[in-house]
Amino acid sequence: MPPKTIDTIDLSNTTAAYYAPATVANPGKLIHVAGQPGSTKDGRVPEDYESQIHLALLNLRKIIIAAGASITDIAKLTLLIVDYPSTNRKHARHIQRFLAGHRPAITLIPVPQLAVPGWKFEIDAVLALPAAPAVLTPLPTVDETVDVVIIGAGLAGLSAAQDVIKSGLTCVVLEARDRVGGKTWSQPLEDGKGTVDLGAAWINDTNQSRMYALAKRYGAELIVQNTGGNCVLQDFDGRCTPFPYGELPNFDSETQRKLAGIRDMCEADCQALDTWKPKDTTLDYQTFESYLLSRGADDVAVATATVWTRAMLGVEPRDISALYFLNYCKSGGGLLQMRSDRKDGGQYLRVRQGTQVFALGLASSLPEGVVRLNSPVQAVAQDGGRSVKVQAGGHVYAARKVITTVPGPVLKAIAFNPPLPPAKQVWIDSLTYGYYTKAMMEFKSPFWAEKGFCGLAQSFIGPASVIRDTCSPADKKYVLTCFMAGGPGTEWAALSTPERETSLLAQLEQLYGVEDIKKEFKQMLTYEWVHDEFAGWGCPCTSLAPGVLDTLGGDGLREPCGNLHFAGTETAGEWKGYMEGAVRSGERAAAEVVKDLRAGFVSRL
Ligand SMILES: Cc1cc2nc3c(=O)[nH]c(=O)nc-3n(C[C@H](O)[C@H](O)[C@H](O)COP(=O)(O)OP(=O)(O)OC[C@H]3O[C@@H](n4cnc5c(N)ncnc54)[C@H](O)[C@@H]3O)c2cc1C
Repeated sequence: MPPKTIDTIDLSNTTAAYYAPATVANPGKLIHVAGQPGSTKDGRVPEDYESQIHLALLNLRKIIIAAGASITDIAKLTLLIVDYPSTNRKHARHIQRFLAGHRPAITLIPVPQLAVPGWKFEIDAVLALPAAPAVLTPLPTVDETVDVVIIGAGLAGLSAAQDVIKSGLTCVVLEARDRVGGKTWSQPLEDGKGTVDLGAAWINDTNQSRMYALAKRYGAELIVQNTGGNCVLQDFDGRCTPFPYGELPNFDSETQRKLAGIRDMCEADCQALDTWKPKDTTLDYQTFESYLLSRGADDVAVATATVWTRAMLGVEPRDISALYFLNYCKSGGGLLQMRSDRKDGGQYLRVRQGTQVFALGLASSLPEGVVRLNSPVQAVAQDGGRSVKVQAGGHVYAARKVITTVPGPVLKAIAFNPPLPPAKQVWIDSLTYGYYTKAMMEFKSPFWAEKGFCGLAQSFIGPASVIRDTCSPADKKYVLTCFMAGGPGTEWAALSTPERETSLLAQLEQLYGVEDIKKEFKQMLTYEWVHDEFAGWGCPCTSLAPGVLDTLGGDGLREPCGNLHFAGTETAGEWKGYMEGAVRSGERAAAEVVKDLRAGFVSRL
């Protein structure tokens, strides 16, 4: 770890603030960053204030990384805000997320205008760097040599390993945890009534061809998602209204018309994108919320779209680039297909044994000794020539190629020598998770189905944003899986466990019109990936704020660096963020590596 150069000075009443009243720096070098406005790399400025904040923070991040510094080297920030809305401090949320717990001194100056008309936000910074950069110590002697080291035994890593081995090369898969599967993790229920998936649950049997092939190969018993009967919408005022699956909720006809228009516009805009290389500055320079509002979305349309971003990525529409979100949808065939619980949709089939069956099957089909559990990778050193060394625990491996499949935020915890190129670092540092937890509520009976509901519910107010039936009738397992996500999910997460249960049960009572739901309730099961370091502190997939795709291009995360190749679901072109995307990304990275090694072509540097 580089030496710490910034210490905060606090007063008794300031420790809870996200910034410090003062910082002390003991620098070797001071960096003064000029005011950064919220403009794209071509100087275009979105009208929307929050989109400008995202772009200004990206511009600041680019400079910090180009200077060889990091966010934790910021000693002081100054914010210049036009027409400062003191009762609606929108900047605070974005700056807090940007600082990720670091607390520099901050001064906010409301101003009547900035240098260019249309600029609403500008930020400058002072950073303190140590006198000498941290020296990366050479890795100890090599213990083992293979052709390819693969980092991570999730679906991407195991699929890559399968293809590498098939090609006749040797490999090891280094996995930090004591199990395979990564974000697929199936837990048996204590009373023997089947399993619950704490991570991924749904696949389909058409456009998710890799997952369906694995399901057949490893004998997964598939359960068709229940879409028979009514869904429910919980409106802003808490009122719950049933409506048939596949139709719009029962708003008045004008609201329905507008909602359908916005939905169809999102669908058309995402279909127009090249999922591998999305390019559209106008979509990328603004948040998804700003995109919706600028195209006439009313409160209901924005709230509905908020349910989409929460349930799919755990984020609010004001935190994600419109291009990133629309392209994410396109990668799964489009907004409608990705959100569908029917044939071809993202939520069509579940696995009775749990989805970890895929990783367990893949791991057991690899030769003995290929997967090394309890092997967290700490360092990767490329010598610029023919070999890469990888340190995991006390062991050092040498390989001709390395494939990393860890989630983007985990890459920040691995020491790369030489450091990853600045563009890659900007991309990785810009990847963020929202809040996303599945709360599985187990009941004695499927009371909702008995009342004519399919279980699918969506709420504008929470605490759960979306709820789905995840029963396994053959196991007499009756579960409603509640997606606790985005803002309402974060508020729910701040409660104690009994309070969490009570608030969710109250919502379920309202949604399905039941009295005394506690009589039916057995238990709540959750796993909070936000506390999981090897998931990168979140799930199901990271996302990007405005500007990153436009600045760095769609391939930025995927492109190899020398003999280091990048896989994992975030790098997928198809079904990004899903198990299918993970498998396909592993196959793609394995193909890159095999092609290079067969050609005797070792370094791309
Ligand atoms: C709650 C939840 C719900 C989801 N729902 C669905 C769904 O219904 N359908 C769907 O298709 N997808 C869903 N997903 C997403 C799906 O789980 C992922 O897209 C997929 O599993 C990612 O696989 P991966 O191999 O890319 O990454 P991961 O599964 O994250 O695998 C990466 C591996 O790297 C390991 N690792 C991390 N750091 C290190 C290190 N330093 N050294 C060595 N190893 C390391 C990790 O332990 C992990 O095993 C969901 C995910 C979650 C969490």
